Amino acid sequence: MLSRIDLRGEPAAALTAARLARVLPRAELDVAAVLPAVGPVCEDVRERGADAVRDYTAAFDGVDLATTVVPRDALAGALSTLDPAVAAALREAIRRARLVHQAQLPTERVTVVADGASVTERYLPVARAGVYVPGGLVAYPSSVVMNVVPAQVAGVGQIAVASPPQRAYGGLPHPSVLAACELLGITEVHAVGGAQAIAMLGYGTADCDRVDVITGPGNVYVAAAKRLLRGVVGTDGEAGPTEVAIVADSGADPRFVATDLIAQAEHDPLAACLLITPDPGLADLVDEELTGQVAAARHAGRIKEALTGQSACVLVDDLDAALAVADGWAPEHLELQAAGAAELALRVRNAGAVFVGRYAPVSLGDYLAGSNHVLPTGGTARHSGGLSVLTFLRISHVVTCTADALAGAAPHIDALGGAEDLAGHVAAVRVRVGAGGAESGCARPALRSAALRSYTRSGAAPLPAPTLPLRPDLVGRRPYGAPQLDAGTVIRLNTNENPYPPPPHLVDEIAKAAAAAAATLNRYPDRDATGLRGDLAAYLGRRHPGCTLAADQIWVANGSNEIIQQLFQAFGGPGRRALGFEPSYSMHPIIAATTSTAWSSAARRDDFGIDTDLALAEIRGLRPDLVFLACPNNPTGTTTSLDLIDRICAAAPGMVVVDEAYAEFADDPAGTALALLPRWPRLVVVRTMSKAFALAGARIGYSAASRDVVDALQIVRLPYHLSALTQATARAALARCDDLLARIVSLRSARSELVGWLRARGLFAADSAANFVLFGQFEDRHAIWQRLLDEGVLIREVGPPGWLRVSIGTPAEMAAFRTALEAALS
Ligand code: PMP
Repeated sequence: MLSRIDLRGEPAAALTAARLARVLPRAELDVAAVLPAVGPVCEDVRERGADAVRDYTAAFDGVDLATTVVPRDALAGALSTLDPAVAAALREAIRRARLVHQAQLPTERVTVVADGASVTERYLPVARAGVYVPGGLVAYPSSVVMNVVPAQVAGVGQIAVASPPQRAYGGLPHPSVLAACELLGITEVHAVGGAQAIAMLGYGTADCDRVDVITGPGNVYVAAAKRLLRGVVGTDGEAGPTEVAIVADSGADPRFVATDLIAQAEHDPLAACLLITPDPGLADLVDEELTGQVAAARHAGRIKEALTGQSACVLVDDLDAALAVADGWAPEHLELQAAGAAELALRVRNAGAVFVGRYAPVSLGDYLAGSNHVLPTGGTARHSGGLSVLTFLRISHVVTCTADALAGAAPHIDALGGAEDLAGHVAAVRVRVGAGGAESGCARPALRSAALRSYTRSGAAPLPAPTLPLRPDLVGRRPYGAPQLDAGTVIRLNTNENPYPPPPHLVDEIAKAAAAAAATLNRYPDRDATGLRGDLAAYLGRRHPGCTLAADQIWVANGSNEIIQQLFQAFGGPGRRALGFEPSYSMHPIIAATTSTAWSSAARRDDFGIDTDLALAEIRGLRPDLVFLACPNNPTGTTTSLDLIDRICAAAPGMVVVDEAYAEFADDPAGTALALLPRWPRLVVVRTMSKAFALAGARIGYSAASRDVVDALQIVRLPYHLSALTQATARAALARCDDLLARIVSLRSARSELVGWLRARGLFAADSAANFVLFGQFEDRHAIWQRLLDEGVLIREVGPPGWLRVSIGTPAEMAAFRTALEAALS
């Protein structure tokens, strides 16, 4: 059945691309030929929008649709009628594809090119993507999975799917396509096909906002429209007829080879199938198999057309020559059914995807391998790869440079600018650094106080020497650097500490407990901090009546930062992703980075609340392994309703971490996410004794969650991580928690007073349920921060541009802050 191309006697080295191009068959996809027909369709959609789409849909699909938008209930309806076995298969396909594509996500890298000069490489998802899913007689729900999953994993905000309307289904796309959309959480589907669909996605209509990237296979008209719109939108490759090359030797099973050739040929009469073998005996056996199998095949007509058309059996001298032929042809799919297949795979240069050994057929890759089945055809595997998260990401370089580093680069810029006769380029550098070096007038304002000098020293630690073999993604990062100034020199309202030290009787009790522990310091401490965890469970139960927690649902560490790190270690890590709603606590993304966890940020509303629909859509789209939510949030002080947290838990596929570091300052003790723990085994509530308990120096943080979560955290904790002194201190403090927490009431009322005072001065102050207030907005917040510091009050330059955060201090400290701010504003 297969024609023979005999390349025996030609060694691998002689099988050049030019030689092979002359002999190997392949159906051409003549996109250029249909451009004259497709151009006016696209132009018309650009000009007339939805009206043009409607006209072409009526003309080409025989359906008159007032809108392309598919109603939401049609998606759910399609899934409810989908064969449960198909639904289960799609779910598994989605699960595997997500795993593979998540592993593809590139990490942000910072490269220090010289002292003080760095380039950060960021990968930014496009805002909106359009996915085209062909219709016709056979609908491919698997195509929906293969296009949508990488877009979702990349973090694309909105995804619109377009698929041709089908008369047989009342003008809706094929129900299996709709069902796959529903399974993936896609809510925007348009019933439109062909070139008009691509033009709609690219230019936008009244029904469909324009997208940034279009992907998805289609016929030659779809390919032509994509080619025409390139420059307007990003597109994936042009999908030509599908193809497979099978390299097989005498050990291959002719039945397997034949079924794989048939499986490829059943896609399209233009499909191209090559069997490349050094064994003429195998070629004969495969041909025999084909004769029998094709006759009995379901799509015998198009299979025969494909196999007797642009398909062939290529006879070669050996496997080296076979690989040379495969590389020259650069197939969409390459199967290796030969001895040493795994080693051969390493030598392949040009193939969309490689299937290794007899148990990895292309059909596995079409549906369930987890690999992407949208692959380069027509020999384009020479220069392109298949669809991936990278299709939906853009690389963006973020360049930073200090004055000194710019001065160091200036002579080279002089030379290159001179050579290219671009004097303006040279001037743009020299105006900053002068002829001799950094101009003092251009640096930040001169340091004005002793306090600021020490701030600058501790806040801006030197970059690590580039000679150390530091992990590349850590190079150029600075250590966490909230300023640490002498209490004698400034009033510290910058790190949300409790301004009241522990009362003297408690200081005595802590000292006694520590002395008792000191007598046993030759031994390691209780590894599991059993007593302390029991005390914390009892404390939470007392403070939040109705929240009954057992000691083994509590986990303790050195500050809640360590708890957060352990959560990332256990549930994040390479290939995994966490989502936060920013502005929020800066350590969440920082710990994500140091544990190689990808971080995605969803924006809060202008009032710093979280938009429910947006949050749920982000979670469904991104499917993060961890969702972080600080409540009350730092630095905004705002809270999130239990109802929204509950809905986030319902939508999130992974862990949900509610960071309640400031919970005790909230007015309503019932607002804690602890109340939701019985409902959600993957919810973790993080607390600390650093804030309300006035024990920041003792470093005690803890979490409440299901026992399984505690088990998981024990896997990543270091042995004996919590010292005996820490445990003794915490227990002594908890025994007197009422005394420690007594100050909360006055801190709360000082907070309300401050918010009123700020607002009375015409400033914005966020609604705070914590022991700090975010206020603004200042055109130059740094200048205000600096003036406050000059007056001896240190607050925090944090949050969105224009805002500043002040922690609540004692009445005397607040009075000093108010006086300093009035001076700064005057
Ligand atoms: N979570 C939030 C929201 C915070 O603001 C802080 C400290 N500022 C922490 C956790 C960490 O606190 P600690 O490690 O002292 O418990």
